Amino acid sequence: MNNSDYRIFRGVAASPGILIGNAVVLDYTQIEIPPTAIKPEDVAKEVADFRNAIAKVKRELLKLAANVGERLGPEYATIFEAQAMMAGDPVVVEKVVEHIEKEKLAAAYIYDRETRAVIEQISQSSDAYLKERIVDINAVRHRLIGLLMRIKKTVISTGSESIVVVAKFLNPADLLGFSVRRKIGFALGLGGATSHTSLLAKSLKLPVVSALGEAVAQIKSSDKIILDGFTGTVHVNPDHAVLEKFKNRIKILGRLNAAVIKFARKPAITLDKKRIAVFGNIEIPSEAGRADKHGAEGIGLFRTEYLFLSNNAFPSQEKQFKVYRQILERLGKRPVVIRTYDLGGDKFVGSAVKTVDPNPFLGWRAIRFCLDRPDVFKNQLKALLRAAGYGRLKIMLPMISSLDEIIATKKLVAECRKELAAEGIEIRAKIPIGIMIEVPSAVLIAEHLAREVDFFSIGTNDLIQYTLAVDRTNESISRLYQSYHPAVLQLIKSTVRAGRKHRIKVAVCGEMAADPIGIVLLVGLGVEELSLNLQSIGTAKFVIGRINAAKASRLAERACRLKTADEVEQWIGRRIKILWPDLRPLIDFMRGGGNATG
Ligand code: PEP
Ligand code: MG
Repeated sequence: MNNSDYRIFRGVAASPGILIGNAVVLDYTQIEIPPTAIKPEDVAKEVADFRNAIAKVKRELLKLAANVGERLGPEYATIFEAQAMMAGDPVVVEKVVEHIEKEKLAAAYIYDRETRAVIEQISQSSDAYLKERIVDINAVRHRLIGLLMRIKKTVISTGSESIVVVAKFLNPADLLGFSVRRKIGFALGLGGATSHTSLLAKSLKLPVVSALGEAVAQIKSSDKIILDGFTGTVHVNPDHAVLEKFKNRIKILGRLNAAVIKFARKPAITLDKKRIAVFGNIEIPSEAGRADKHGAEGIGLFRTEYLFLSNNAFPSQEKQFKVYRQILERLGKRPVVIRTYDLGGDKFVGSAVKTVDPNPFLGWRAIRFCLDRPDVFKNQLKALLRAAGYGRLKIMLPMISSLDEIIATKKLVAECRKELAAEGIEIRAKIPIGIMIEVPSAVLIAEHLAREVDFFSIGTNDLIQYTLAVDRTNESISRLYQSYHPAVLQLIKSTVRAGRKHRIKVAVCGEMAADPIGIVLLVGLGVEELSLNLQSIGTAKFVIGRINAAKASRLAERACRLKTADEVEQWIGRRIKILWPDLRPLIDFMRGGGNATG
């Protein structure tokens, strides 16, 4: 059967998973809310309905807060508690009621008009804290309008049918809220594979295709959707044959998952007996509790920016100490790498960082910001030092581009130690300090840096961005964001060489460590430690267990000498399938195979 309405949109594979469900379009800017007239005798009912809707939204938000708090930790519940308070704001509610009574127009229209006016006013303000609130006001507005116009019911309930949320953009807090549903996926207009909403979606195991651009405007609510988070494709109103192919793809995925799960809890050893350590990246502290189940040998990256999701001010030293301690205790004897604030660029800044950066990726961010704000940085360092006694902490510094930044940080660490000692707080003598290698200048001076630090962790997400001058979140150039670019491979190779020479460990904690072809290249380039999202650990260990490190090394050597990323991808994909046929189903699946057109 041919379906003339069938369309395929291609975006970026931002979070793995396949979902077949109905679209729920969340782009409220597209919705025209008509100024529907209300008969005088119906005004009282309209007001009562509006008040009921407000009460319902408040109840929903509080329920959501409880659910999110229980699943992910209390620090994330506060986002929704604050929104519940905002929803019930008596000033707004009474003003809307007054206008419904006076103008005799529908509540949805008046409420939308009034809240838009508030947003307009706030956006003119120079107060960063107030501006941050726009996200929350919009979240509440969407919820209420959705309820009044009966659009959004399906998304906010915990219903069991599968839905694909279609939106231009989604902020991480929205994603947390939607994660109360088990069968939910996202088709987004903006963002790339390494945007923070995507990374959080991986943590929450929700499939995402992002960077779809204007295509999202062509999808209507209740269109039938197949969302393929492995290949980055969205199939709209697929015909029977395509649906059957994807049902088959889901079956293959089930078989692959069953095969790799057996490897998750075992050590990763190549066929020629090379041991590769596999760690987990976590975004949310409560994920630490799942590290063991997924087979993580430790935490290779905890992104502390996530403490800002629910906080507009810098978290206190005490609050940070508790979070770090909890993660360290959960992991026991296994190492935990906690990265100091990587604020700015694509990361949340909250209103705590008051800056208007004309070019945020090259701006006042991460270590630069921290060194300019020793009050903030020292608070974090002290919390880390205090927590160190509760496990095997390693501190990691982001965005290092020069030696001075390391020296200055070590000086601050020494100061913190002294100040804590003066307060009678004892700190463990040796706490390893390492750095992210994610700026090309750091690779070029890696030998100097290696003398000053205890480990390197290559952040391929940013290293690719800064080497190729391609914004990792810009959907219009996402095809140029190439992990297999020979220039990127050569930089990884140089970093490993510098690390070896100075006998420090070199890990990779960017998304490349979760990609099967990327893993072969990284092992081949001599990387001995990978850190990746918890869900992909089984697959990574499966891949490592199927390959021969010496042969992978020859492949990587040759890949470094090829001319383009496409050449590398094609050539290495072919070689892997010939050398290690066990990997063929996985590689084919990731590329959309399994009898399904990707
Ligand atoms: C990276 O840049 O590869 C990395 C791991 O850090 P983030 O994605 O948090 O920038
Ligand atoms: Mg980075």
